[in-house]
Amino acid sequence: MLQPGLMMDRPLLISDVIEHAAAQFGDVQVVSRETHGPLFRYSYAQCAARARKLANALKHMGLTAGSAVGSIAWNNHRHLEAYYAVSGSGMVIHTCNPRLHPQQLIYIINHAEDSVMLFDSTFAPLVKGIAQHCPKVKAWVCLSDAANMPTVEGVANVLCYEDLIAPHSEQFDWPQFDERTGAALCYTSGTTGNPKGALYSHRAIVLNAMAGCMPGVVSLSPKDTVLPVVPMFHINAWCIPYAAPIAGAKLVLPGPRLDGASLYELMETERVTVSAGVPTIWLALMQHVEQHGLRFSTMRRTAVGGSAMPAALIARFADEYDVEVRHGWGMTETTAVATMSSLAPKHMELSAAERHAVIAKQGKSVFGVEIKVVDDNGATLPRDGVSQGELLVRGQWIVTGYYKGETSPLVDGWFPTGDIATIDAQGVMQIRDRAKDVIKTGGEWISSIDLESAAIAHPAVAMAAVIGVKHPKWDERPLMFIVRKPGQALEREEILAFLTERVAKWWVPDDVIFLDALPVGGTGKVQKGDLRKQYGGVFS
Ligand code: ADP
Repeated sequence: MLQPGLMMDRPLLISDVIEHAAAQFGDVQVVSRETHGPLFRYSYAQCAARARKLANALKHMGLTAGSAVGSIAWNNHRHLEAYYAVSGSGMVIHTCNPRLHPQQLIYIINHAEDSVMLFDSTFAPLVKGIAQHCPKVKAWVCLSDAANMPTVEGVANVLCYEDLIAPHSEQFDWPQFDERTGAALCYTSGTTGNPKGALYSHRAIVLNAMAGCMPGVVSLSPKDTVLPVVPMFHINAWCIPYAAPIAGAKLVLPGPRLDGASLYELMETERVTVSAGVPTIWLALMQHVEQHGLRFSTMRRTAVGGSAMPAALIARFADEYDVEVRHGWGMTETTAVATMSSLAPKHMELSAAERHAVIAKQGKSVFGVEIKVVDDNGATLPRDGVSQGELLVRGQWIVTGYYKGETSPLVDGWFPTGDIATIDAQGVMQIRDRAKDVIKTGGEWISSIDLESAAIAHPAVAMAAVIGVKHPKWDERPLMFIVRKPGQALEREEILAFLTERVAKWWVPDDVIFLDALPVGGTGKVQKGDLRKQYGGVFS
């Protein structure tokens, strides 16, 4: 007969995260770039006190357990307080991506039934445009003090955050409830159809945040200062706003300034040791650092994901700047990180280039998540590093379904990701492409990710993207887009010759189009859909 364990059954709750930080790391700093410019700093103890004030304010407004509070905001301290106050009260913080199409924003605010919306002053014009279409929102709270309030004409009940929380007590008894309760809601980007909501539970977030602290994952400890560039408005900034207080790491929030120069300055002045973001952010940072001959004095690690990190960029960080890239994979439906690349002692015998190639893969599943790849019939493919098929995941922080969704996306208890991957005998997963981005040519597949990574290795290339374009003979052929680095005179023949030396002959793109910039979406990813719309007919 099974023996029940004689251990306490304490729920994993988000309120405990901030109270832990307040009690154990009360003097550790949170630094935040205000939307109007200056840096603000306070401690975890003060952050917790203000989260309790906000919790009292929300209760006073009549919100109760289960209410949804939306946010359209940058990474800053007031947004952080809302993360804790809202979820800690048993309500749901619904983070909205401000770069969604306004119609989609209206859709998700109504779908989530947000009763209060928090917004940064940057987004006042956006709020002005959507407010009248969101009848369930009873107050629009600007994350600002009175002196920096924007005017939002025509919107009823616009409140100032500081005025809202000022009269309330710093004492609040966080309710205790089931750890499986919904805590945060994030909608997918809705590239096809309406966005779909992933409702993260307290348990999923706390477990994921604890996993993120592990040395083999993002690795956070009281010795660290962490700068999440990845937005708090999409996938909870990969749970770093929860992981940092668990670990006792100093937290630096960059506000609206995400350009290379601002990030570099923040990294240096705040002595950041770890950062996290998508590759496009690091491309811009690297360009700034290279152009000005700068060095990182304290930054030692950067967690990268959201799209594939090219080996050439991993090499630049590691070889020239001594910054280790932690390359992870995850999606809206996986709360945050699900797999992470890693090096073992055996890799130390490899050349630097071979080691970077290991990091360029998306790595092993983190404990708490399992992965497999399946063929078109759903049969599990061998872990041989070659057989490629759709990646499926299951685990402690993977969705079971979508918010108010009628049908389950799961297949035999596994979530199908829409990504095409291989897994090798050691469990190392490599994303070959998104199913919709794979280029099918003459019955064979070309990985757009591999082609882009090959192009990025050219010293004159700032950014690269490849799409499959309809072709009368081959079904599809690759078309490449290049953004040159400033002052570089790279031409079509040179980049094609460069690629010919690095990829199979039939992979070499049929044409190259040079652009000043690539269309980049709300989460820093190249919008290949936009490129397909505009250039999809060029070979027909
Ligand atoms: P969207 O990109 O549509 O906004 P998500 O933010 O949920 O949706 O992104 C998840 C997708 O991003 C994954 O399914 C995968 O295609 C891609 N992705 C995430 N991390 C990586 C990575 N390290 N390498 C390649 N692709 C990645």
